[in-house]
Formats: sequence, C-alpha cells, structure tokens
Amino acid sequence: MKITALKCTVIGDNPVLRIVTDEGISGYAQAESAKTYLKPHVMFYEKLILGEDPRDVERVMTRIRRVGAFKPWGAAVSSIEMALWDIAGQAAGVPVYRLLGGKVRDRVCVYNGNVRFPMEGRVDPQAHADNMQRMIESPENFRFIKQGIAFHSGMPRGVDGFSYGEPQPGGFHPNRGLLTGKGFAHMMACIEAMRAVCGTAVGLALDCGPGMVVPDAIKLARACEALDVMWLEDMITGDYTPYVLADLYREVTRSTSTNIHTGEQIYLRQNFVELIEKRAVDIIGPDPADMGGIAELKWVAEYADLHGILMAPHGTGDGLLGLAALVQVCATLPTNFIAFEYPTGRPEWWYDIIDGLPDPIVTDSHIEVWDRPGMGVTFRLNAARKYLPEGDGDFFD
Ligand SMILES: [Mg+2]
Repeated sequence: MKITALKCTVIGDNPVLRIVTDEGISGYAQAESAKTYLKPHVMFYEKLILGEDPRDVERVMTRIRRVGAFKPWGAAVSSIEMALWDIAGQAAGVPVYRLLGGKVRDRVCVYNGNVRFPMEGRVDPQAHADNMQRMIESPENFRFIKQGIAFHSGMPRGVDGFSYGEPQPGGFHPNRGLLTGKGFAHMMACIEAMRAVCGTAVGLALDCGPGMVVPDAIKLARACEALDVMWLEDMITGDYTPYVLADLYREVTRSTSTNIHTGEQIYLRQNFVELIEKRAVDIIGPDPADMGGIAELKWVAEYADLHGILMAPHGTGDGLLGLAALVQVCATLPTNFIAFEYPTGRPEWWYDIIDGLPDPIVTDSHIEVWDRPGMGVTFRLNAARKYLPEGDGDFFD
C-alpha cells in the first residue's frame, strides 16, 4: 500500500486531513478548531510522505516528526499521524486500539472542559456559581468540570486592578504578572463559590494561566488545599507557550498537596522528559492533536506512569474525529489515566456529517469504546460535501 495524496480542507472551524492510498482506503484526521490557517502547513509535508506505506506509521513519522514545534506548529504532524493510524486500522480490519496494544478499559472517562454556557461578561462569584450549576446539570453527568480562572479567564480585564500588569486585549492569553491582593481575593471567592455548588458529587479543576509568578502559584495552590480542587492547570506556562520551565513547576509542586498540571502545548515525548523525570508536576495533559499524535501520547503516558505521574489529556478543540482518536488511545493507556477533556462538534451540524459515534456519546461521564476498524468514524459524504469551502469541492473525491 502506498500514499498517493495528502489533502487538507477546513470544515466549520477545524482543519480536516485526508491521506489517500492506492488501495481505496483513506485516513482522516482533524486538527484543533481555530487553526484554520493550517492548510499550507499540512501540505508542506505531502512530498515527504508520498509513496510511503501508511501502515508503517512510525517509519512515515520519522520522515516528518522533526519538522514541527510546540502548539500550534505540531498540529499538522499530529493530524497526519492520526490519519495514518486510521488507515492502518482499516487495512488490518481492527480498531486502532488493537494496534496500540489493546484495551486496558472498555469505557473511557471524560471531563468537561468544553460544554460551556456563556458568562455574558460577568466575572463575579455568583456568575461562576450559576454557570457551574448549569454545567453540572448537563446530560453528560460529568464526573468533574474544569473552569478557567486568573489569566485563563475574563478576570484580568473584568476585575479592575486584578494584577499589577496592564490588561492586554485579545490574543492567546497574553496577560501575566503579579496578582494584587484584591485580584487574589476575587479569584478565591470565585473558586469557593464554584466549590460550594459542586459539593462532594462533582470534582472541580481549574485552568489558571499561563502567566502566574511562582509565589502566586504557591499561594493559590496552598489556598486550594482545603477546597479539594482536583488540579491547577498551566499556572506558569501553558497554552501557546513554546517552552516548559520544569524547574519552576517543580518549586510549586514541591510546596503543596494540590495537584499541579501542565502540558497541553508541548510537542513530542522529548519535551516531557524533564517534567516527568524531575516530577515537576503531578498530572500531565498532552493533546494528541498537538503533541505528535496518539502513539506519542501513549509513550508519554507509559513513561509518566513509571514516575507516578497521572494523565488527563487535553482535547477541547479536537472535534469529532479528534474525539474518536482520543477514545482509541485512551482505551489503551495505563492506569495512571484519569480522564480526557471531551471535545464537542461545532457548529452543531458536525453531528450530522459523522457516522459511528454512540448516541448519546457520553453516559455518566464515560464513553463506551467502539470496535469498528480504524478510528471507527466516517464521513456521511452526501451530508458533508455541502460544508466544503469553495475550491475544495473535490476533497472527498
Ligand atoms: Mg488548558
């Protein structure tokens, strides 16, 4: 079997890849939403993989893996990897989880980092409590819910004098610096309000940065010890930060019993080694659609497990094909797996153009692992074609 073409289009907000072969099998994958600029980057790799046997996933990956970087520049390589596994599974007539070593679990746990209700610009404690209540009532019955606070929320701009820095508009979470006493107190009031709503039934995780300084991170982590917060994510680095800073994370992690979490922007296993070997965090959250793919996630999970570190993969913007990839790989992770961040299909019509997902997808915060070959999801071509952008009308042909 040989790769004869690599195609990329944008469906809704998500780049979608198709690897075409000479045996009538195509592999599909999806990159994170909002990366609509990715198509030329994806096509850059075509000449490097044409003529290769897509079933030799690792051999193909050795040709392209070095030519990538931290989020968002690992997304194209990651999506190609997932499309290769889709082909390999279809060609063998088995679900991808079998090729990754088989199932450790028949259903995978998911958490809510994506089923959202608008806060309408409010950042006060009551708004956080009301919003949390709505998320708790959503039918997926999520076991735990993650909410943004501090620099990963509207607080820097919505709370006057939240930090000593000048609030920065737009961009990829550009705010950073020292929190004021007022800012810290506001943040804690919001956390306490959400915690009260969650009670003992639903866990609360918090996405915090990037951009906090180490002393503020330690102060927040210690204040959360009595509040039973599941984890504090990306306080120092994180989303769209092209470096790791393991030593700073280690200082925070060593000074608290609250779980410290990072990793969604990190590309490749090599860049997790220092975090893991130094035990710089308690939980890591790589995204297979940014880190280099699902086999990369599996490798990091195994290495983390050797060091007593837990796994909670990121996935919020990965779409429905990304959801399928997360289900396949998370079925195979060792028992350091907690849950992955559940991606939804947006716009809503994504659910009309994909076949193979369970209905409902999530029951009691879990997804049953399906047994169809490859990633196990396919496009309903007649329904999907009408969402192809102008100029890409032949994407499925
Ligand atoms: Mg995050």
